[in-house]
Amino acid sequence: MAVLADLVTALRSGTVEVVDLTAPLGADTPILELPEQFGQTASFQLEEISRYDDRGPAWYWNNFRTGEHTGTHFDAPNHWVSGKDRDDISAVPAGRLVAPAVVLDVSAQVAADPDFVITREHVDAFVAEHGPLPEGGWLLCRTGWSARTTQAEMINKDDDGPHSPGMSADCARWVAEESPLIGMGVETVGTDAGAAGTFDPMYPCHSFLLGNGKYGLAQLTNLDRLPATGAVLVTSPLKIVGGSGSPARVLALVEC
Ligand code: MN
Repeated sequence: MAVLADLVTALRSGTVEVVDLTAPLGADTPILELPEQFGQTASFQLEEISRYDDRGPAWYWNNFRTGEHTGTHFDAPNHWVSGKDRDDISAVPAGRLVAPAVVLDVSAQVAADPDFVITREHVDAFVAEHGPLPEGGWLLCRTGWSARTTQAEMINKDDDGPHSPGMSADCARWVAEESPLIGMGVETVGTDAGAAGTFDPMYPCHSFLLGNGKYGLAQLTNLDRLPATGAVLVTSPLKIVGGSGSPARVLALVEC
């Protein structure tokens, strides 16, 4: 098949680059914090089984414990009550794990206001400049937030709660119900703004996107290395039966 042969040639020659959008996954990886009355997700932990020692003289391996929504991860529709009868992470069709992506850059606005939210006007301006959003594609929100690698920086909490960027409820509804996209990706620990617990409805990106069978990608990095249009995303959540999401390796193919 000429297309794949051409792709292999482009990868070998460097005219197509593979950009890793995945944050390192370890014990220090920042995690979502919910209000204290709710259950909390686990951080990532390795448990050594053996390391070329009495427990296994020739081999090294670990068990691990993690939240499904820890680190760079994929939100399945059944993560939210609005999508509770929709696909779990193991049922997301493989064909949707390779998809085009566009990048909306609001990093300058977020630098000035950590509570910045993307509205329909920002998306409309993007479409006016770059053309229609891709059918079956991702909208990646470049906020610069991935430069924050500690728990405190990532959550950015004060007495009023967390402060991090996101999307307005109206825009999330439009992405979910009217746009040709399959989902949105963000640099923060979840797809919703830090203050989205106060939005109407609360956590609108989760509520609308997952409720409409769409997806979320959280804690992406290196979005500054992608073009506004033309990248192809390869996402690889674990096929956890019944799972609500999974840590994922997320790669982007980019023409140089
Ligand atoms: Mn999540």
